[in-house]
Amino acid sequence: MNKIATQSAKILYIEDDPASRRLVQRVLDNKGYQVVVAADGLEGISMAREHHPNLILMDINLPSMDGREITTRLRSLPNFSNTPIVALTANHSAGNRELALAAGCTGFLTKPIDVTNFPGQVNAYLEGMSDAISIDEKNEHLQRHAQNLVTRLENKIHELESANRRLRELDRLKSDFIIMVSHELRTPLTLISGYAHLLDEQVKQSDDMLPAEMVVGVAEGLNLGVVRMRDVVNEIIKVARIASGTLDLALGPVRLSELVQDVYEEYQEVVEKRNLNVQIGDLEKLPVVQGDGAQLKSAIYHIVSNAIKYTPDGGSIFIVGRAVGDTVDLIIQDTGIGIPDSEHRRIFDQFYTLGSIDHHSTSKSAFQGGGLGLGLAIVKGIIEAHNGRVWVESERRDPAQFPGSTFHILLPLEQMNKPANL
Ligand code: ADP
Repeated sequence: MNKIATQSAKILYIEDDPASRRLVQRVLDNKGYQVVVAADGLEGISMAREHHPNLILMDINLPSMDGREITTRLRSLPNFSNTPIVALTANHSAGNRELALAAGCTGFLTKPIDVTNFPGQVNAYLEGMSDAISIDEKNEHLQRHAQNLVTRLENKIHELESANRRLRELDRLKSDFIIMVSHELRTPLTLISGYAHLLDEQVKQSDDMLPAEMVVGVAEGLNLGVVRMRDVVNEIIKVARIASGTLDLALGPVRLSELVQDVYEEYQEVVEKRNLNVQIGDLEKLPVVQGDGAQLKSAIYHIVSNAIKYTPDGGSIFIVGRAVGDTVDLIIQDTGIGIPDSEHRRIFDQFYTLGSIDHHSTSKSAFQGGGLGLGLAIVKGIIEAHNGRVWVESERRDPAQFPGSTFHILLPLEQMNKPANL
């Protein structure tokens, strides 16, 4: 093997730990080597191809592909069949050296490096030294190496398959979401365009002023349509803010009793119309929490709205609270259709709605009127931004027996640190 003048030798060091990278780089730089570094295996392979190093120092425990796998891959490339590849590892366990040599490494050095001897050791490998391994040992370890590779490949395939399933599911949810959003926006748009058309016709047909009650009726209709559209757009914007971690919280003292009362008043008419029995506990006694009142109200609003939507006419909703240590647990319980165990986590995902979108309706209050599947994702985002927790307890889903659902919102009294996802 040709001797390479130390001054011109180029060394590639593949290592994910920045401190080790810096140390080795400094030690070898001082001796006049040109050192290039890569932080992971795939980057290492492309840097090897680009820089044609005279020697490669290879960390073994790397994320994604490990050092042995990269070595085997490099050995299969035409330019790297003879390049010295020296394993550099903190793992001293038995068989590790043989495994690295069987995978194609020329030598094996352990970390932490011995700063004084290290340049000499590297130089020896550059000058053609290679660690010895018997044929039998090599065969035995080659087999282990192959088995490790196949096991890793199998695990990787499982991982990729499940990631692929998740992506497909998300893709389906997003497609459903687009259909639902179009539907949600089209309904108020039809309303607005109907009233605008009516107004236009009336103005053109009559020379006199339009009767006041008609103008009021048209204005109310237009307003209703605009409010509905605004609500849909706001919901989408809020969920996008939560997803990108840019939900701003304006912290201040918050009385949960007042928020619950405000939300209840918004629904009072629906509650009466659908003959629901809403009972609110003695929330005034709850301690004041530090939080963003408007955001927390919106979280409570979504949960109460669901309790109303998924409880049949004549059913009951109970809203109670209790102080638990330095937290408050707000509990919203309904006697509705319930939620199966398997969905208790997923209902808090974006776009997730149980059941088919064919049952989707734009009503916010009708029994089982579907929504955009964003409500609980918004709730989770808001509560977690307050360093709190939200979860559901429900025995099963049964639209005939109505086992009911119980949602808990657990909030810390104080916000010690910066809110969690901001
Ligand atoms: P949606 O807009 O569909 O209501 P949410 O994110 O608010 O979206 O809720 C997700 C799903 O969780 C709903 O589609 C519904 O199936 C289920 N769900 C939420 N709250 C309740 C409840 N109180 N009772 C039964 N099912 C519920």
